Amino acid sequence: GQPVCECFDCYAGSDCSELSPGCAADADSGDPVFFEPFWMQHAADSAVVISGWHRMSYRYADGTTMSKELENYIRKLHSVVGNAVTEGRYIVFGIGSTQLLNAAVYALSSGNSSSPSNVLASIPFYPMYKAQTVFFNSEDFQFEGDTNSWQSNNQTNTMDVIEFVTSPNNPDGELKKPVLGGKTIYDHAYFWPHFTPIKGPSDRDLMIFTLSKLTGHAGTRFGWAIIKDKDIYDKVLNYISVADLGISKDTQLRVLKLIKVAVEGDGMPLFEFSYNKMKDRWDRLTSVFSKSTRFSIQQRHPLYCNFFNETRLPSPAYAWVKCEREEDHDCSAVLKAGKIIGRNGSLFSADDRYTRLSLIKSQDDFELLMKRLTELVSLEDGSI
Ligand code: PMP
Repeated sequence: GQPVCECFDCYAGSDCSELSPGCAADADSGDPVFFEPFWMQHAADSAVVISGWHRMSYRYADGTTMSKELENYIRKLHSVVGNAVTEGRYIVFGIGSTQLLNAAVYALSSGNSSSPSNVLASIPFYPMYKAQTVFFNSEDFQFEGDTNSWQSNNQTNTMDVIEFVTSPNNPDGELKKPVLGGKTIYDHAYFWPHFTPIKGPSDRDLMIFTLSKLTGHAGTRFGWAIIKDKDIYDKVLNYISVADLGISKDTQLRVLKLIKVAVEGDGMPLFEFSYNKMKDRWDRLTSVFSKSTRFSIQQRHPLYCNFFNETRLPSPAYAWVKCEREEDHDCSAVLKAGKIIGRNGSLFSADDRYTRLSLIKSQDDFELLMKRLTELVSLEDGSI
């Protein structure tokens, strides 16, 4: 008889090819799995094998030739892409960029516990900035929320301010600029040619990047900070030493291997793959939303991209969806009723009239999202 097989979630039928009718499209997390086919094509040249006796020692904690080589490849990557100035700057590795976000807050805080430094970001902002600043509960810094409301309430007190500038922004893809004129942490997690045209190298005092959104290896947990000032560099380095005695050498070895592949052909194979993927998804997404009056997505503006040498539209990692109908004040609930799982606007300190949809998951996830969005929008046709 027929072999009995178990199908993955959402699929049914004897060969598991039928989509279960009740299955929801999950566009919640920012897991960058869309890179997987690229790495499948580069399976051999991106693989790492580490013998049991290799790199056992703490001695390799810092300043080894391998760490130095990785640092040099990161500098080379930025010069190939043209997205950050690294000449004369210091580089620190972190466990994901997540660890460096708080290390940067610590390093920039004035260290005056009777008057803690004020940490802010502009709504809508990535929730981790607040979560970390509140969780670490330091005497030296405190989370003060949104830059714009701070500006209107405390016009005279912008001196001891640490502002997160997320460019491009999570969730809406905006190329944010500082609002307050204090110290800044530039979170450049998404400042790569697949998400935004690269108009020139970022030249800020403290910039943070991550492997997660560059190659898709979020699970490797690797990020880096590019720092201009020696004192700030020493503080960030001290934070990493006290927290971890340095970043895993196994991780560094894998990252080195991946970045070597990333810079091959001056970055063209990787970034053409990733840009084309994102562009295709945005073309299809905008076509669905163009038929809707009930839902809208963020405006995108063309910019000249120095990496691809032409003017292009950005193709952000997330769609920032707005529910336009008066009664649809909980947009996530509206989408959920249409079998689409997004992330509430209020998680980003914005209105729940907004929902974030992730566009960087697997092709199957994206296809199901397209299907559910098309169904939802088709209900609008004069029927209600
Ligand atoms: N910054 C932003 C804006 C992000 O969206 C993310 C991850 N989603 C991070 C930082 C952290 O990424 P990681 O720790 O994987 O480097």
